Amino acid sequence: MTTERLHYDDPLLLSARVRVLAHAVHEGQPSVVLDRTPFYPESGGQLGDQGTLGDARVLDVQLDDDGRVHHLVEGPLPAVGDELDARVDEPRRRTHMALHSGQHALSRALLDRLGAATRSSRLGATACTIDVDVAGLDLEALAPVAAAVNRLIDEDRPVRQRFVDDDELSRLALRKPAAGHERVRVVEIEGWDTTPCGGTHVTHTAQIELVEIERVEGYKGGSRITFEAGPRARARLLDAQAALRAAARRLDCAPPEVPSILDGAAAKLAAAREEAGALRARLAELWAARLDGGDGAVVATIDGGDPALLKAIAARLATGARLVALAAPSDAGTDVVFARGPEARVGCGELLRAVAAACGGRGGGRPDHAQGRLPAGIEIEALVRAQLLASSGLSPSS
Ligand SMILES: [Zn+2]
Repeated sequence: MTTERLHYDDPLLLSARVRVLAHAVHEGQPSVVLDRTPFYPESGGQLGDQGTLGDARVLDVQLDDDGRVHHLVEGPLPAVGDELDARVDEPRRRTHMALHSGQHALSRALLDRLGAATRSSRLGATACTIDVDVAGLDLEALAPVAAAVNRLIDEDRPVRQRFVDDDELSRLALRKPAAGHERVRVVEIEGWDTTPCGGTHVTHTAQIELVEIERVEGYKGGSRITFEAGPRARARLLDAQAALRAAARRLDCAPPEVPSILDGAAAKLAAAREEAGALRARLAELWAARLDGGDGAVVATIDGGDPALLKAIAARLATGARLVALAAPSDAGTDVVFARGPEARVGCGELLRAVAAACGGRGGGRPDHAQGRLPAGIEIEALVRAQLLASSGLSPSS
């Protein structure tokens, strides 16, 4: 029960009148087997086609170990013996054709220019990769490879896909050896590359549109190259271009100036952060000088403060046996930082947990330092002093 595969002879034959030979099951899913099919089943790193079979939607096409082509459809299966119109989703097929031919063209250029042979390739739904046997490649080394393939695209050379007999096979200079099938199919990009392949390919190189190498990383002692081609590469480039234009409008510059404007902004931000840090330290000094005095507890509200300022002030005041409890109120809540000097006996974490339990906030920490967020509008000084009074039971080491 073999299915005649129409895509082998014509990758642009996208519809055909077909007959249902049988119902079958592929990996637990009901499937339809046809007498002939324009649908390409997933194989050789290329995804299966989608489309319609009569009124039914074809979600995927898979090949089993016996070489049987399974059409996985949505809903009830068409009846055995039915004659139907099979239609392949053209944009998806053309995307796969461009990606697959783009991969062959790239694999050849990688071999010729960098001596990097393709170990395997995958044309995925969101990313395409070529794994080669040369390590240490970077985008700079790959730029001339992509440029050569894009020139090949401009030249619009013919691409032929056909079965060959043993005699012709022995005369072809193949990029990789043919697997031991009875009939060998080759894909030839004229004057560029000939390789055994069962996939669907463009008929002229201009249909690849463009090839863009996005990323390269070390992989299993070689390199993994991530690329895009065809309608998908074009869509991604247009999206990226739109995003770059939007960024340029916001920065009030031309698109090519965006990186240098961002570099300048990052430098200004770093300088502003440094200045803010110096001002915070100065402010903390002033607050600490104002609050300094006595050896007991310093409990204070720092209006307009934030946790970073509270910590900076507390670090300056936490000396001797002193407990420091600082709060910064805002509409959203009350930030608190507790700290203590090396000779103090009160546990900051335990004290804060007790205060938080009394007023419905959260916070905790170590014996020498704690911080948290308590509700807005609380009387922090009264709360802390009440807990300190009740805390004769707080263990010194907690
Ligand atoms: Zn191939």
